Amino acid sequence: MNDEIRRLVIASNRLPFVLERLGDSWRSTPGSGGLVTALAPVLRDRGGLWVGWPGIVGDVDLSPPMAYLSRNAGFTMQPVSMSQEELEMYYRGLSNEVLWPLFHDLQSYCNFEPAYWKAYLSINRRFASVIRDSTLPGDFVWVHDYHLICVASELRAMGVSSSLGFFLHIPFPPLDIFVKLPWRTEILRALLDFDLIGFQTARDRRNFMHCLRTFVRDLTVEGKGQVVTVSVPGRTVRVGYFPISIDYDEFSLGARSEEVSETAWYIHEKIPEGKIVLGVDRLDYTKGIRYRLRAFDHLLREHPDLRGRITLVQIVVPSRRDIPMYRDLKIEIERLVGEINGRFTVSGWVPIHYLHRSLDRRELLAYYRTAEIALITPLKDGMNLVAKEYCAANTELTGALILSEFAGAAPQLQRGALLVNPYDIEEVAGALFRAWSMDAEERRERMNRMQQTIQRYDIYWWVDSFLRAAIAGTLDAFPVIEEYQSSINLLSPVEFD
Ligand code: UDP
Repeated sequence: MNDEIRRLVIASNRLPFVLERLGDSWRSTPGSGGLVTALAPVLRDRGGLWVGWPGIVGDVDLSPPMAYLSRNAGFTMQPVSMSQEELEMYYRGLSNEVLWPLFHDLQSYCNFEPAYWKAYLSINRRFASVIRDSTLPGDFVWVHDYHLICVASELRAMGVSSSLGFFLHIPFPPLDIFVKLPWRTEILRALLDFDLIGFQTARDRRNFMHCLRTFVRDLTVEGKGQVVTVSVPGRTVRVGYFPISIDYDEFSLGARSEEVSETAWYIHEKIPEGKIVLGVDRLDYTKGIRYRLRAFDHLLREHPDLRGRITLVQIVVPSRRDIPMYRDLKIEIERLVGEINGRFTVSGWVPIHYLHRSLDRRELLAYYRTAEIALITPLKDGMNLVAKEYCAANTELTGALILSEFAGAAPQLQRGALLVNPYDIEEVAGALFRAWSMDAEERRERMNRMQQTIQRYDIYWWVDSFLRAAIAGTLDAFPVIEEYQSSINLLSPVEFD
């Protein structure tokens, strides 16, 4: 990073740990995601701070646990407080009942409640005040994700002129969907108050640019490639795409450890019949679990010879339990699993092993390592790290990846994965059959290609490329990431009479 930049300031909905009150004392569990792994060393080295909600509602004095956690982490943790009601409206409401479904193209799942928007603005303003009060001119502020889109506009209104970056971890929707948002112009204007906006893929940036061109007058765009410059009267903003990734070495080395090897052996020992197909998802309607189960059902109907020789292990990590739609989804998934198992189970073979819980790292790596096929079919996904983790952990190059063409990971993994339309049950079932019968050489070649890409563009590359673009304003040193040519482009034009 440039020396003119004093410190790095990260703002995200949650601080990088989970804090719990235990009587008179506190318990904290460190966040384990790739983002924390990649950013913590930069924050420690440069000096910096992380601003976010600590997971405790109400007006509680958090200074003792914050001081302790900051000392241990080597950088400052700055909490943003929220009441239960604010959390409901800003987080559960606007973030997860409006922006989350809309940005995943599921506009019919949205609840456009006007009170949500007011709460969202108010919490974004609170984040902005905490940032203003704890930063110095010259600090670079990097805001993360859809919960905090309006932080830059709130900071600008407070007179803060620091350099501000934003990264959207989820997709950006196409114009026809984005226009449904009652606060569409506010959101676009708010984004333009950042100095650098990062998306996951070229697709997301293209959608965003299309929306900008539609709603913003006197807009000019300069440059092409991974980062372009957008000018509107009075402001210049850089807009790029930076596919997020994983700590490749950590997954690859972890998967080789003795304890993972033993657990992997044990898992396959318990499911000895044929090949394991693995699905790993947070409980979410964007993950396409219902379609996936129906595709597996279709496979078993169409290929009776595979019965007893293929087993789906579907791991569903509990999520957003307080939202009714998520509770209904769980019931629906469990109904489908029961129906399919009821139809096909015979003595000694159950077609679907369903786990509704979170796995620890050892167990997760063991499943990655032992599954011959990963079935990752989100209806839409910002990136999908599970796809990358599965490949990194596939130490013997024996696995096959079936991946939704609507996952952000598709452009990078297209040369190794079997890409499918997750809505097309017959196509997904066909890909399962193809993966099941794929020879060892083809598996090895495909997996090798994917591993090389993931290793090269890992989470450290991601942090580095975003910060370079933010600070130097160019990305000359980085090769352009390829764009995925959807099979849709390959169809011959439809002829009309
Ligand atoms: N994961 C986990 N425990 C589990 C299953 C998954 O910690 O039992 C992690 C997984 O390693 C991955 C993340 O959850 O890093 C899921 O990320 P992804 O991008 O695939 O989907 P998201 O849940 O963020 O939409």
